[in-house]
Amino acid sequence: MKRPLILIVEDDASVRNLLEISFREYEFDTITTTNQENAYRLFLSNNPNLMIVDLGLPDGDGKELIKEIREVSKVSIIVLSARHDENEIISALDFGADDYITKPFSLKELVARIKTNLRRASLQMQQNNSSHYGEFEVDLLSKSISFKDEHLKLTPIEYDLLKYFILNSDKTLTHRQILKEVWGVGYQNEMQYLRTYVNTLRKKIEVNSTRPNYIKTESGIGYRFCCEENKDGL
Ligand code: CA
Repeated sequence: MKRPLILIVEDDASVRNLLEISFREYEFDTITTTNQENAYRLFLSNNPNLMIVDLGLPDGDGKELIKEIREVSKVSIIVLSARHDENEIISALDFGADDYITKPFSLKELVARIKTNLRRASLQMQQNNSSHYGEFEVDLLSKSISFKDEHLKLTPIEYDLLKYFILNSDKTLTHRQILKEVWGVGYQNEMQYLRTYVNTLRKKIEVNSTRPNYIKTESGIGYRFCCEENKDGL
């Protein structure tokens, strides 16, 4: 397999060097830059498999870069940020980032997130009518989902929501993002809809819906779906 190419956008030289050196050990190829303008240019000319984006950049907020990239590409983007502010994280995800890691970070965790994102991207590429995702199988043609080899009885919205969770597993999804993608534009603030449907889905797939193994709550942000049981994040 071709080595994944990662574009690192980070103005802090020590972090940038650390990432470059460690990624080499993990057999990732890298290109690096310190600002948004170069990042956009490098993105277009190199077509990387994944991007790591710092939010505080010398020529502006990394979220602007994410927004620009999202207009042309679905490339995996992981935000690396010193900001622990929940709203910053939510807004980076709303702008289209796939994941985030806050500094100081564990390299092991970052690499695990990179691998998950690369795996998801390649799964989405080869997606056909029916695909297995951990313990779930989604049949796009008949609009049905099986779980542990049993057909799930779902209403159309439950199907759409569970499908969205499965196709975006291991990814933090904000409430607004889910509402927009599943219910549509204009429903972004209908938190109660989402909460209700998450509860009914949990009753259908979780052993104990108050201690979910699959649809995990990311407190104050949204949800993160795991396709396999006992995969307790990291
Ligand atoms: Ca910075």
